[in-house]
Amino acid sequence: MTTSPLKMTKKILIIGSGFSSISAATYLADKGYDVTVFEKNSSFGGRARKFEANGFTFDMGPSWYWMPDVFEKYFNDFNKKVSDYYNIKKLDPAYTVYFGSNDSIEIKGDIDSICKTFDEHEKGASKSLKKFMSQANKNYSIAMDKIVYKPGISIFELITFQTITRIRYFLTNIKSEVAKYFKNKKLRQILEFPVLFLGAKPENTPAFYNIMNHADFGLGTWFPEKGGMYRVIESMIELAIEKKVKLKSNHNVDSLVVDANKIKGVESNGQFFSFDIIISGADYNHTETLLPKELRNYSESFWSKKVFAPSSLLFYLGLDKKVKKLNHHNLFFDVDFNKHASEIYDNPKWPESPLFYVNFPSISDSDMAPSGHENCFILIPIAPGLEDNDQIRERYFKIVIDRIEKISGEKILDHIVYKKSFCVKDFIGDYNSYRGNAYGLANTLFQTSIFKPKIKSKKVKGLYFTGQLTVPGPGVPPSLISGKIVSDIVMQDFPY
Ligand SMILES: Cc1cc2nc3c(=O)[nH]c(=O)nc-3n(C[C@H](O)[C@H](O)[C@H](O)COP(=O)(O)OP(=O)(O)OC[C@H]3O[C@@H](n4cnc5c(N)ncnc54)[C@H](O)[C@@H]3O)c2cc1C
Repeated sequence: MTTSPLKMTKKILIIGSGFSSISAATYLADKGYDVTVFEKNSSFGGRARKFEANGFTFDMGPSWYWMPDVFEKYFNDFNKKVSDYYNIKKLDPAYTVYFGSNDSIEIKGDIDSICKTFDEHEKGASKSLKKFMSQANKNYSIAMDKIVYKPGISIFELITFQTITRIRYFLTNIKSEVAKYFKNKKLRQILEFPVLFLGAKPENTPAFYNIMNHADFGLGTWFPEKGGMYRVIESMIELAIEKKVKLKSNHNVDSLVVDANKIKGVESNGQFFSFDIIISGADYNHTETLLPKELRNYSESFWSKKVFAPSSLLFYLGLDKKVKKLNHHNLFFDVDFNKHASEIYDNPKWPESPLFYVNFPSISDSDMAPSGHENCFILIPIAPGLEDNDQIRERYFKIVIDRIEKISGEKILDHIVYKKSFCVKDFIGDYNSYRGNAYGLANTLFQTSIFKPKIKSKKVKGLYFTGQLTVPGPGVPPSLISGKIVSDIVMQDFPY
């Protein structure tokens, strides 16, 4: 793209290199803006970084590739296709939910098989499932067309004929909506599980978020071949570089420099860098601490009252064998769901008996582990801000390994050849995460859309926010969308 000699290209800095940051950078560079990314860590991808150790490749955060349409749309916006960069394969089975020893439900990769499974557990449940899914499908289409790509500035963005006809889905919660259709406790739990990605309890999440059930059963669970989730980051970076985005790792932004309520640049690594516009994809609360108090959008007390998505205790394991009794994605729901949820949200403490999630990406991509080995990731959701030390981590390690072995019959402990853990302290140290949250602000009704922290600074001209703490919310697809939303606003405010 060429610039007129009289026209000065706006210099934009994007803080962080998570999905939202790379997305925003690429949309803006595509339109000709001069875009630089400063990432504090030595590698790019934010919470979706990867690391390699002893021949194993670990995706550090996201592992569920849902809503493939959003990824496709992202690349289409640049006249590209996902398949220009990577291939995805549909997982079948998508995942297994364990309720106890010899008590599990496997969710297949197509709705007809899922219907059969539902009928096996509750007479006539497939009929109810079809009805439930048809509503979820309608809500998904409305969400994609009318809601999630909106900047959350005015209530009028949300008032359309279609949204008004669905108002009851905002006034009821997903737990009671699911209960209207199904009696079986296990089926109810399976349908409540997807909203856990949104960071709140099902009873506090609007029923409209049954869009996640469409994402799950309707669109399916996919996996990026040859590299797992990090393939997506690598591909986005390749496209960003093609658009001339300059990416700088090991560049911690220490402060934002403001003059007369206007962005002037940043201090990083002891140096001043001049920029006209800054978009921060780093955690919102942290970004505001880089400003004097009087220039922040929100006070500490604002953040302390918000419902944050959980933090997590994570284990990355290398095993010297292939697993036979577990699938790529496995959910251990063999304990009281409500009790653990209450230990995350109502009475934050280390859970007595945690639910947890285990994934083996090397089942689908053998390159992610040495030959004959398996790569294993374990996630225990916990309240943000809990005390975190090696003894506590080890106690929970023993609990989950013991349960995996007993319930699935698969021996794990004696086969561990690599082990690393990651918890609250690491989320804070590595990402400047508020109280060590793993995936931002929960999508409760009053933290959705116009109620989210705003994308634009009210006090500093040229300062914007993107990512999982602003619209539309937590998760990889929303973060991609968030980057598009913020770039559209910047283009309106500072036309090229
Ligand atoms: C363990 C885990 C599992 C998850 N699983 C899934 C899943 O299966 N599917 C899904 O869709 N989503 C999942 N998520 C959520 C998803 O990963 C996130 O919502 C998404 O990656 C967030 O992207 P982001 O752009 O908002 O920010 P981030 O990825 O958090 O990026 C922010 C970046 O800013 C950098 N930064 C911070 N401060 C500074 C500073 N001062 N200077 C410079 N750089 C700075 C950080 O280092 C980081 O790289 C998961 C998250 C976690 C943690």
